[in-house]
Amino acid sequence: MDSREFLEWSEKAARWGVEYREKLRDLPVRAQTSPGEIAAQIAPHAPEAGEAMEAIFADFERIILPGMTHWQHPRFFAYFPANAAPASVVAEYLVTAMAAQCMLWQTSPAATELETAMIGWLRDALGLPAEFTGSIQDSASSATLNAVLVMRERALGWAGNREGLSGQPRIRIYASSHVHTSIDRAIWVSGVGEANLVRIPVTGKSRGMDPVALDAAIRKDLESGYLPAGVIACTGGTSIGAHDDTEAVVRVAHGHGLYVHVDAAWAGAAMICPELRSFWRGVETADSVVFNPHKWLGAQFDCSVQFIRDPDSLVRTLAIQPEYLKTSGKDGFINYSEWSVPLGRRFRALKLWFLLRHHGLEGLRQMIRNHIAWAEELYRRLKTDERFEITSEPFLSLFSFRPVVPAGQDEEAYVQRFLDAINNDGRIYLTQTRLEGKLVIRFQAGQFDMRQEDAEMAHAVLSEFADQPI
Ligand SMILES: *Cc1c(COP(=O)(O)O)cnc(C)c1O
Repeated sequence: MDSREFLEWSEKAARWGVEYREKLRDLPVRAQTSPGEIAAQIAPHAPEAGEAMEAIFADFERIILPGMTHWQHPRFFAYFPANAAPASVVAEYLVTAMAAQCMLWQTSPAATELETAMIGWLRDALGLPAEFTGSIQDSASSATLNAVLVMRERALGWAGNREGLSGQPRIRIYASSHVHTSIDRAIWVSGVGEANLVRIPVTGKSRGMDPVALDAAIRKDLESGYLPAGVIACTGGTSIGAHDDTEAVVRVAHGHGLYVHVDAAWAGAAMICPELRSFWRGVETADSVVFNPHKWLGAQFDCSVQFIRDPDSLVRTLAIQPEYLKTSGKDGFINYSEWSVPLGRRFRALKLWFLLRHHGLEGLRQMIRNHIAWAEELYRRLKTDERFEITSEPFLSLFSFRPVVPAGQDEEAYVQRFLDAINNDGRIYLTQTRLEGKLVIRFQAGQFDMRQEDAEMAHAVLSEFADQPI
């Protein structure tokens, strides 16, 4: 491809992206294809001879687009958002064009230095203390894995990487039953093992872990010869927004010398609003905190920030310097690849810089406050509507509910059919979770372009389907 063609197709792609965003409100949110429908249209083998871009682009629109679920659709109320504000998309165009691999300071000094600056901006924006530093990871799963590896190495006196886990005392890590599955996977791949992830019971409306039970579990493990290593607290669980009392959890954990990681992958973004910070009071005493600017805040996926109090323990756990990675005379600069499991790193700080500068913190705060207000408004309407039952109260912009199941119907099957009917309709997209054994429907407001009328549409659609035989 020569420069002229590269320009032509780049311009075409950019124009396509803008037109795509403009027409999203008219598209069904969730892809309406059945399994295998897209795969059947893809050639079984790579072509031997090159093809014209016209043909490739046309196939993209014809084959691929119908199989996309539109995460940037303003009525995406499923899961959590994966926002991509236009300013961050523009930054990603530039990053894609430069395509730098930013593993070391010298492989792109600007990427490292901007990353350090953005971590500082976000730390201050979230009200975290100045002792915190951190880095940008691909996902919260990676950040949590980092934290679990540090817990393991600290507890083993840094012997795990060197000697392996066989013959070592059994490490124990504690979390509530509402933490994300990324915690289980970090426990698996770190070699700690699922049997050593101790689930602490939750209490109250916040469904946070009971600090007294946490303390008792640690003491019991110590008596039994286990090696307690760390606690994973959560602010805003994925299911219904469970949140631990971080202050109490850290007090208990630090009382036993344990490392504390806080998973605020979704809810962390809301902490740019000072009035919401009471939900994670005590976070300033934690050792590691993860939040995903690629969720609610608006940074193009992927962009996850891990704040850490003591980078030395992370570097001691993960850094490895073969000859080919040494950078002579550049000591004192951070090589961020020593702060994560993957060596290679994308330049992720640029989209944060574009996003934060273009919208300003006040613009982003307003978006978050709007989402919370609109979710609360819908919650109030469903709460006073006898066709619906609220199953969990709002935490920020997330709550759960179910349609009241008509007498004689199988509850579970009815809720599932109700949800399927709504998602097949396509005007809104909702997903389910299980709460105390029951299938319930989640609603979260968080899409960057969402307006009040989109919340009203959600209400209209729910109302319409509640009146229909399902
Ligand atoms: C989304 C989410 C995760 C996982 O995030 P990834 O970046 O996809 O790994 C972990 N914990 C919570 C609470 C989440 O909401």
